[in-house]
Amino acid sequence: MSDQPTPMMAQYLAIREANPGALLFYRMGDFYEMFFEDAVAAAAALDIALTRRGTHLGEPIPMCGVPVHAAESYLLTLIRKGFRVAIAEQMEDPAEAKKRGSKSVVARDVVRLVTPGTLTEESLLEARRHNFLAAFAQVREEAALAWVDISTGAFQVMDCPPARLSPELARLAPRELLAVDGSGLDELAADAGAALTDLHASAFDSGAGARRLCALYGVETLDGFGAFSRAELSAMGAIVDYLELTQKGKLPLLRPPVRERAGGAMQIDAATRRNLELTQALSGGREGSLLAAIDRSVTAAGARLLERRISAPSRDLALIHARHDAVAQLVDDPRLAADLRAALARVPDMDRALSRLALERGGPRDLAAIRAGLTQGAAIAARLPDDAAPVLREAARDLTGHDPLTGLLDRALVAEPPLLTRDGGFVAPEYDPDLDQTRRLRDEGRGVIAGMQADYAALAGVQSLKIKHNNVLGYFIETTTTHAERMLAPPLSETFIHRQTTANQIRFTTVELSELETRILNARDRALEIERGIFEQLRAAVLDRAPQIGQAARALAEIDLAAAFADIASGEGWVRPRVDDSRAFAIEGGRHPVVERALKRKSESFVANDCDLTTGATPAIWLLTGPNMAGKSTFLRQNALIAVLAQAGAFVPACRAHIGLVSQLFSRVGAADDLARGRSTFMVEMVETAAILNQADDHALVILDEIGRGTATWDGLSIAWAVMEHLHEVNRCRALFATHYHEMTALSARLDGVENATVSVREWEGEVIFLHEVRKGAADRSYGVQVARLAGLPASVVDRAREVLDALESGEREGAARPAALIDDLPLFRAAPPAPAPAKARESALDARMKQVHPDAMTPREALDLIYELKALS
Ligand code: ADP
Repeated sequence: MSDQPTPMMAQYLAIREANPGALLFYRMGDFYEMFFEDAVAAAAALDIALTRRGTHLGEPIPMCGVPVHAAESYLLTLIRKGFRVAIAEQMEDPAEAKKRGSKSVVARDVVRLVTPGTLTEESLLEARRHNFLAAFAQVREEAALAWVDISTGAFQVMDCPPARLSPELARLAPRELLAVDGSGLDELAADAGAALTDLHASAFDSGAGARRLCALYGVETLDGFGAFSRAELSAMGAIVDYLELTQKGKLPLLRPPVRERAGGAMQIDAATRRNLELTQALSGGREGSLLAAIDRSVTAAGARLLERRISAPSRDLALIHARHDAVAQLVDDPRLAADLRAALARVPDMDRALSRLALERGGPRDLAAIRAGLTQGAAIAARLPDDAAPVLREAARDLTGHDPLTGLLDRALVAEPPLLTRDGGFVAPEYDPDLDQTRRLRDEGRGVIAGMQADYAALAGVQSLKIKHNNVLGYFIETTTTHAERMLAPPLSETFIHRQTTANQIRFTTVELSELETRILNARDRALEIERGIFEQLRAAVLDRAPQIGQAARALAEIDLAAAFADIASGEGWVRPRVDDSRAFAIEGGRHPVVERALKRKSESFVANDCDLTTGATPAIWLLTGPNMAGKSTFLRQNALIAVLAQAGAFVPACRAHIGLVSQLFSRVGAADDLARGRSTFMVEMVETAAILNQADDHALVILDEIGRGTATWDGLSIAWAVMEHLHEVNRCRALFATHYHEMTALSARLDGVENATVSVREWEGEVIFLHEVRKGAADRSYGVQVARLAGLPASVVDRAREVLDALESGEREGAARPAALIDDLPLFRAAPPAPAPAKARESALDARMKQVHPDAMTPREALDLIYELKALS
């Protein structure tokens, strides 16, 4: 047996070799087939059958396949599971290949490489999230990060020293990160949830990058877009190179690169984002995050804008005020807000439609989406009053001037066009006279056929004779075998030409019928051709105005977001925060939007709390003590979230808020809460705390929750103590510090910027009741033992804990030298079965007495006596 691969296999292997690192979808008719290891991996990932086809080097070839019409959902699964997929299509009609000889194979080539960062299909993308592809480049001393969302065309770049890479990736959450081979960024990328793609150093060449960018935008020099560093050119160039590679030369519509201004946004590092659950809950999903709790946007682009704003709250006072003005106007004019939202709800995703059209993956529905978006946009602009807030007025300006294009699309497209251009039927009647006439010919032909059927039935004397159509024979005359006999014999056989005999039927054609068929087919093909031509013209007309359409899409997202912020502000009683460049931080009646929402579902109410860190020159730190479960973490986080919301342009969940611009936001939780990450948790906690102490400036807001908990008590206390002193003396920032070490409350007497606060609880009959009220002062004790009982620890353990605690506390009061000595003196633990609980006995005596009580039959005097009696029993 020869081991020569078949010509098809040889072609497969060649394409395979040219596209390493990706599964190869090899088009064969109506299927994408996979072979060899690809088939094994894909069959397992997709849970589909693995079969065999032929042999290679004496071994059977594993194979699996997916139908082309359902390929998108399989692609999605593969991409989610971390694969990249190369799609090889048939580049010619199989008939062409046959003409070249029986052994010749249909030409195939990879038309696209599908990777997590380069998706454009509606079904592969999450509508309400960005899909960023990022690239990190270093050139000598400089480093830069560039990122693009090819589904919307947004392209950005920033100077990014390696130390800033992790927080920036945390902010952007790109799906894919490009880096030079051997960059060692694997862990960083994995932490940010991005697939890392290594590229050869040549992709990052800054000179070539600049040339690629010039070619892309058709300019001689990039100066018009800004002055870019070598590293920035390298990062942007790598992105363009990768897009050329994956899109096989069809470049998406990229907007000119925008340089992100350093210092424009509140700095929030990865740990803080995770901890505050800004866009993702600790459990991983969107549900439970701040983003999910406050998202009232009605368009996908609005939701994406909200995610961007929450991920990067602004530090630009003028911008923040302008955004608040827009929200305030819509809060004050609910009718306007409702009208805008009703119109916005009919706005489709123009950004993504535009990008598909540019990549030649668009269809008639994408044109219709542009039409609908611009039409609604014009209506929205008209609805905005002349005295609208500047943000809204500016948006209105971007929404006007599109009439010629919408007019064209209105005339050219039917109301509800089909998804694909393939079958035609999307061009409106009366748009193109040529098309109308061809369509008439086609339809008349169909009418003539109906008439023919009657004529032939009469001629053959067979009433049941029918003219039918299928894809193999085209039009044919059909009759049953019994009736066909006359037609098979002269003279009728001169007219009726036999074509096919099936079990019960005989099929004929006639010269006249096949001529008519040819005419119909020609007319149909001609109509399709005209429609395709019109599609191309419309597409060109749309792409011609791509920048303006992109601008309109951004304007709609901006209005949607302002209206969404207004909606939640009115619905939930949020207020406009006063933001200035002071160092104030005064929140009255603040609430945690996520916890409040969760409580509301259980019909419980949230206790609002004040927080005042406002001071002049001195730092301001609140040291918060109180038992576990009292609400310390909730209070800490709600204040951080209020700062984020205010600078993101939203109103805030409070009665009143005054915030001096926050430059950096830090939040850390003691290691015990962070077990999921699997590193030495105490080490992580210390590294992260070090980062704060080294970075926080005097406009930072720092939230520290139980720092030092991850180690032995005295170590922990000492570390917490020293951290606090450093924040006070060196960083001099605003901070909230929660701890269960009461000993630390002594610090407030020594550091004038530190105040004690506590979350109050009440003790009642040996139980704690959480009031969730934050007030000035220190907690008197930690109530840990009581909380343990609430958690269902066995009574014997709780009693014993109380005993140990009492001994330790009295020892402390008496000034015992070492806790160890005290512990030696404790009586031994009695693991005896718990004695019948006296509480229980009291309860049943009460119960028994209550059973005898008949309130209806009692006089007020008897009732009072009963209360005295019950009191004695309890
Ligand atoms: P701690 O950090 O003190 O252990 P948490 O902040 O985790 O306590 O709060 C524990 C629980 O108490 C929360 O899950 C929430 O249900 C409830 N809680 C916290 N703060 C409030 C509040 N202000 N109003 C109502 N319930 C609250």
